[in-house]
Amino acid sequence: MIELGSYVSGTWIKGKGKAAELVNPATEEVLAVTSTEGLDFGAAIAFARDKGGPALRAMTFTQRGEMLRAMSRAIHAKRDELLNLAQANGGNTRGDAKFDVDGAIGTLAAYADLAQELGDTHVLVDGDGIQLGRSARLFGQHVSLPREGVAVHVNAFNFPAWGLAEKAATALLAGMPVISKPATSTALVTHRIVEILVAEKLMPEGVLSLVCGGAGDMLDRLGGQDVIAFTGSSITAAKLREGKSVLLRGTKINVEADSLNSAVLGADVEEGSDVMNLFVGDVVREMTQKTGQKCTATRRIYVPKDKVGAVIELLRERLSAIKVGDPTRDDVTMGPVATASQIRDLREGVKKLESCAKIVFGGATDVNPIGVPAGKGYFTTPVLLHGENPKAGDAVHEHEVFGPVATVMPYESAASAASLVAAGGGGLVSSVYSDDKDFIRTMIVAVAPHHGRLTIGSSKIAGQALPPGMALPQLLHGGPGRAGGGEELGGRRGMALYMQRTALQGDRAIIEGLSGKK
Ligand code: NAP
Repeated sequence: MIELGSYVSGTWIKGKGKAAELVNPATEEVLAVTSTEGLDFGAAIAFARDKGGPALRAMTFTQRGEMLRAMSRAIHAKRDELLNLAQANGGNTRGDAKFDVDGAIGTLAAYADLAQELGDTHVLVDGDGIQLGRSARLFGQHVSLPREGVAVHVNAFNFPAWGLAEKAATALLAGMPVISKPATSTALVTHRIVEILVAEKLMPEGVLSLVCGGAGDMLDRLGGQDVIAFTGSSITAAKLREGKSVLLRGTKINVEADSLNSAVLGADVEEGSDVMNLFVGDVVREMTQKTGQKCTATRRIYVPKDKVGAVIELLRERLSAIKVGDPTRDDVTMGPVATASQIRDLREGVKKLESCAKIVFGGATDVNPIGVPAGKGYFTTPVLLHGENPKAGDAVHEHEVFGPVATVMPYESAASAASLVAAGGGGLVSSVYSDDKDFIRTMIVAVAPHHGRLTIGSSKIAGQALPPGMALPQLLHGGPGRAGGGEELGGRRGMALYMQRTALQGDRAIIEGLSGKK
């Protein structure tokens, strides 16, 4: 049995006591165990703060970028091994595993590119300076410098590679050392990535640590220069927001939580058009990629009333081509969900949705996975529901089912579509499909305040559109309300979490001279 360790205080340490099991969700075979019991979290935090922090802050943005580039290349060099691990521990098809691992490689590379733009300096200059006095001499300028603490990253189970990399890329470029805590159930990929990076000696000591298992009292030990960046359920987020360090010492916290992402089809979109094909392709991909376990997956589909029947038929046709089973087989296009508790939650969640919608495709218990021993694995078919009378407050607008489950619903007008989208309580991404400029404008104005990202699918970009579920390093990832109110990525915007913005007032010559100096 493989026993995983944590990488803290510059060394690999195995925990004592009862270990948690990491399972293959297709076969239920136990792949590894891990525990963090007995780890000295105080020493781990101090080591990261005192060793990693100064080393990183001594590096310029360009040098931090070179480190990120080397990390990206080292992961790329072991890509096949990581894809295999993601398939075994995450229930990922090869395509799902690539989405995660290549996302990690690409995001580190994108932040390495950004570092080149920021240049050989330590100070991030924020906007233009302002003349404050009678003469141009008295000057004000906002600047940002790295916080002198540690960034603790608590990640969800669904992206063990990308989750590590997207948060680490931003924090390390900003100049903060990282302690990464992946979700225990799928930590094998994260663990292997950290092993690779440590073995290659790509980072100064203390710059990247790994806690592989429970967080213990680590978060309660943080202080006013530290940061928590959390991704996971809103229930866990609520607990972390009430943590001692957040409430009493002002530890900064960023939350990426649940999201009832939506897709809206315009009344102008005809069957057979490029936009309709884009819409149907996107919805099916977002429902089934990573077995619907993406925070950005589409959960709600709003369609003009007279198109509901046709859209359901198009989606059923495409969904019936999805082959569920052992994700390592080439003929399988959707694997299991990641854990026993996920399949239980999914089945209960579908029952909740049935309070306001009827199943029109599939069933959460009605599945015969290909190439899997009878009765084994955490499998479901895709499940499509139809809600005839959607309204705010019903289950489809309240409850996230974290799997390949979505609901088609009618809308009457652009205004009613927008208010139904907003009834989701704040989301990561919404997508609108139309060539009608007035409809698109109405939707953008009404829907944007409730979302971190909007994608607009129209005929002119249909051939090159990016899937709405793909978070890009250049654009913001996060959303208001239910989605947690956080902001990650978005190029240099994501770095703000890890830096203190300070307004400088004084002699213009001194302040302007600063941007090239420490
Ligand atoms: P979760 O149960 O909330 O766990 C998330 C992370 O929090 C795990 O690393 C977990 O560690 C840790 N954790 C749990 N309790 C903790 C505590 N008391 N103190 C410190 N850490 C604690 O969520 P999940 O089941 O992994 O992920 C699914 C959810 O994440 C879904 O609701 C999904 O929408 C959301 N999600 C959001 C985004 C986004 O970007 N907005 C992305 C992906 C997923 P252990 O595993 O060790 O328990």
